[in-house]
Amino acid sequence: MEKDYIIVGLGLAGLAFTEELEKHNKSFVILDDSSQNASKVAAGMFNPVILKRFTPVWNGKKQIDLAIPFYKNLEEKLNKKYIHYVDIYHILKSVSQQNDWFSASDKPILSDYMISKIYPNKNTQIIAPFGLGKLINTGKIETAALLKDYKLLLQGKGNYSDESFRHKDLKIQENFVEYNKITAKKIVFCEGFGIKKNPFFNYLPLNEAKGELLIIKAPDLKIDYMLKASVFIIPLEKDLYKVGATFNWKDKTIKPTKEGREELVKKLNSVIKIPYTIVGHLAGIRPTVIDRRPLVGIHPKYKNLAILNGLGTRGVMLAPTMSKLLYQNIEKNKVLKKEISIARFS
Ligand SMILES: Cc1cc2nc3c(=O)[nH]c(=O)nc-3n(C[C@H](O)[C@H](O)[C@H](O)COP(=O)(O)OP(=O)(O)OC[C@H]3O[C@@H](n4cnc5c(N)ncnc54)[C@H](O)[C@@H]3O)c2cc1C
Repeated sequence: MEKDYIIVGLGLAGLAFTEELEKHNKSFVILDDSSQNASKVAAGMFNPVILKRFTPVWNGKKQIDLAIPFYKNLEEKLNKKYIHYVDIYHILKSVSQQNDWFSASDKPILSDYMISKIYPNKNTQIIAPFGLGKLINTGKIETAALLKDYKLLLQGKGNYSDESFRHKDLKIQENFVEYNKITAKKIVFCEGFGIKKNPFFNYLPLNEAKGELLIIKAPDLKIDYMLKASVFIIPLEKDLYKVGATFNWKDKTIKPTKEGREELVKKLNSVIKIPYTIVGHLAGIRPTVIDRRPLVGIHPKYKNLAILNGLGTRGVMLAPTMSKLLYQNIEKNKVLKKEISIARFS
């Protein structure tokens, strides 16, 4: 089989790069072994404001401006809805935080998202004595459904293989690579935390963070917005909500844990007063980098090998922009900015 590209990994990174290839009529095959699942368990939120500090996310607005048409295009292609604009209400913890909210929301870069007003809490089931700040133009992407449908589409076209990529079997030639029966001009690794097993790129400093989420059923909660306190509460359907997420830098497994569950329950109980039932518990590993920037670029020694990784906590917003930049770098020799290029670690 001869292809332009082999892609290893079908999370948000692999999907976004595949879309870039489709746009440019390149042929490809994707291999994925479901060993990682960050993109499938993700809450899928897009929000260009860092709510811990009320500061803008690095290039957040630009990323969203590119991401929304990207996901819209996928909606058309797959004939399904994945984008949901949902406001966020942030529970304020003190008078000083109320003041911080006002000063941040006055800044031009944030004023498209943060409403310059404190909303009194009207929902008696929620604990918020200092009121709430409201964010607009935010939302969520249904990443699990999108990836499932996208995989089916690729399978239908014969472009997808459910298998584990064995790096030791890759043969690197001057102008192409060979892997089993596939010959391709390039190979792009989009492995998320799977990068740890990649001998070509595992020198890159990933500082991965495991995250756990609960799915709860809370018929009396009745919120149709995302609520941010010490945890996020994200409405799903039929009285279900996603609650999360934890950050754990030690545990490298994708198994949900008792500790993760207890932490989330404790935090959730400090936000809502009503009874709920836990109906699901998910975990995944965020491919976070020590400097909190993506890992994009061509291998310093092997010119046919490239990487798209390090999407960290914001894969939804980052993947479309980073895949575009990687494609231009590979195909058009467009130099990547140092802040995202893997050259910063050589
Ligand atoms: C609990 C949690 C909540 C999150 N919430 C949000 C959120 O609200 N918004 C947001 O933007 N981001 C969120 N994230 C972060 C987001 O999920 C990640 O940034 C993003 O999913 C990373 O995508 P990826 O494609 O790089 O990695 P992954 O999704 O991990 O995909 C990597 C793929 O590569 C495959 N793979 C790896 N090695 C091999 C191999 N050797 N052979 C074959 N296949 C291989 C894996 O099976 C996997 O399918 C969250 C993450 C977690 C864990």
